[in-house]
Amino acid sequence: MPEFNISVMPGDGIGPEIMEQALRVLEKIAKKYSHKFNYETVYIGGCSIDKFGKPITADTIATVLSTDALLFSAVGGEKWDNLPQNMRPEAGLLEIRKAISGYANIRPIKVFPAMETFSTLKAEVISGIDIVIVRELVSGIYFGEPRGVVKLPDGVRKGFNTMSYKDYEIERIAKVAFSFAQKRRKKITSIDKANVLDVSTLWRDVVSEVHKDYPDVALDFMYVDNAAMQLVRNPSQFDVILAGNIFGDILSDEASMITGSLGMLPSAAIGGNVGMFEPVHGSAPDIAGKAIANPVAQIVTTAMMLRYGLGLEAEANAIENAVDKTLEKGYRTPDIFKNGNKKVDTIQMGDAIIEEI
Ligand code: NAD
Repeated sequence: MPEFNISVMPGDGIGPEIMEQALRVLEKIAKKYSHKFNYETVYIGGCSIDKFGKPITADTIATVLSTDALLFSAVGGEKWDNLPQNMRPEAGLLEIRKAISGYANIRPIKVFPAMETFSTLKAEVISGIDIVIVRELVSGIYFGEPRGVVKLPDGVRKGFNTMSYKDYEIERIAKVAFSFAQKRRKKITSIDKANVLDVSTLWRDVVSEVHKDYPDVALDFMYVDNAAMQLVRNPSQFDVILAGNIFGDILSDEASMITGSLGMLPSAAIGGNVGMFEPVHGSAPDIAGKAIANPVAQIVTTAMMLRYGLGLEAEANAIENAVDKTLEKGYRTPDIFKNGNKKVDTIQMGDAIIEEI
């Protein structure tokens, strides 16, 4: 029986409640497909501060690095908001991301058929969109040096950052995007601002070089401002979007929002020591402990872990199909409830999804 070791970080707020449902779903998958999942549940964020006095410990990091994948929920809450920056829950998140050093952020942008009317765009514009955004995560303008705010001799203050990429950083993220595209509709749109930025010229050159190894994939380039416009005009033209750190950051939030279900989408950081899988939403402290949190994002995040972290494609599909069917049948937690739906709590939503697997 195939065995997999999974680090589990329920974190804070609604994290433990939605993680519980995700693990129940995983156990159903284990039973159906004869796998064994071993869980290492570890602390991060506020709960780690409360227990160990810091947002993550060296032991926790070592544990995560020894497993096959990390399933994360969310961290943060008012209780820890006034701590110094390096002691806050989010510092634990930054530390684990650094230890893992996953350079490829993967954000699938999918419309749940039953949720089309939740988008601010017309249903016919967003119907059936299925995009994967591959964003470079550890370089670009957020990390480039020099950076800072200085006072010039004439008293004027100047703030600056450096947008830089080395060829190998572009090459490795492009390879991730091309390999995703090969398993999908075989189309990549690479995003840049090559009409203005030198770094974008290098980006285009390297992406074109990598393309030679993937002749079955169609490649086109798009300026980031046009891409922002095209995403709301005709999102179904996109299959895989490849972008650097800042452009990918902005476009992925825009793209998630047009699905109408931002709070139900997963994301991943891969390419590093261990794949890390997490929902797009935060710890929702306003509804924590009320048993009304929507577990769907955590559950589809688990599907993403099975597919991209453990190579279990059929198992991932089984979860996603079960979520689609559950939503089609009208089951809704309060955050996505509309008249005519069946209102359920966190556990009942988990039950309904498990029933469909
Ligand atoms: P949030 O995503 O936690 O919540 C925004 C709104 O969406 C809230 O009204 C919340 O109730 C609702 N919501 C979110 N997820 C939901 C779910 N699964 N089911 C039902 N409703 C849901 O963002 P926020 O309010 O800006 O941040 C709250 C806390 O989460 C803060 O401490 C923040 O720092 C933290 N946060 C953590 C992460 C992370 O761990 N990756 C990401 C974002 C925010």
